[in-house]
Amino acid sequence: MRFMHILKNVNTTSKLVTVLKRERYQIGLIPTMGSLHEGHLRLIRHAKRENDIVVVSIFVNPLQFGPKEDFYQYPRDFLNDQKLLRKERVDYLFAPSRRAMFPSSFNQNVSPGPLARYLCGPKRPGHFKGVVIVVKRLLDIIKPDAAYFGEKDYQQARIVENMVRKLGLKVKIRTIGTVREKDGLAMSSRNRYLTGEERKRASRLHQSLLMAKRLILKGEKSPKAIKKSIREYLSDNMDKIDYISISNPLNLRPLKQLGQVNLVAIACHIRCTRLIDNLVVKL
Ligand code: AMP
Repeated sequence: MRFMHILKNVNTTSKLVTVLKRERYQIGLIPTMGSLHEGHLRLIRHAKRENDIVVVSIFVNPLQFGPKEDFYQYPRDFLNDQKLLRKERVDYLFAPSRRAMFPSSFNQNVSPGPLARYLCGPKRPGHFKGVVIVVKRLLDIIKPDAAYFGEKDYQQARIVENMVRKLGLKVKIRTIGTVREKDGLAMSSRNRYLTGEERKRASRLHQSLLMAKRLILKGEKSPKAIKKSIREYLSDNMDKIDYISISNPLNLRPLKQLGQVNLVAIACHIRCTRLIDNLVVKL
């Protein structure tokens, strides 16, 4: 197994990055909140293929959790994460403390832009602002050539892409397809919260997306009718539905009529676990 360096200090990391850039190494960054699973590893493997050096960051970002959300309960498993990353032959693990990420002098005012108005935005006020602040900070420190995000967090990936475009940053944003369990449930660190019975109910989420896809491909034209079918399908299994949306995949606006490409996105709760998933359906 190859040696993986663990970086915690921002100044040391910046100095190292300067040397790597001078040597013209291509750097790939995968930002994560840890508790790594196969979904994260897929991103890492893509980055390994496309870069000389791979940096994974682990930082449970307090700014992206609401006051009533699960920041303190969020699963943390640093030792196992290190083991997994070593096995993937990751070069650097950047695991800063909160103070290292946000020193008292830190003042970053980036906006998540208009895409945050839709889907999870209204349900999680401040969430995407917290995301873009931390992603911008990571990009500033690591200066990667490419950064890797999961399609599972579709809206997050689009918002980051938009921020990068708007600020004219040089990094390439790569989005990788969702990795699923055998029964279709999208892998997520939060799945650990689910009991056996809840875990079974959770698989209905992906099944409802597949049902929507079937309806669309069969010729159903009305987003309203499709959303109604999804709601009926989910209502017995989910404890709360935050939203069911059929949107334009580029600007995330809800569609009144289906387009050529449609984003079906759902957020719901099983007890206190919030689950999200989505599917892009092309006609
Ligand atoms: P997180 O640690 O949950 O913040 O996720 C870090 C990155 O991994 C994000 O870009 C996620 O979209 C991505 N990711 C999380 N779960 C999956 C999954 N099941 N498949 C693909 N990517 C994922």
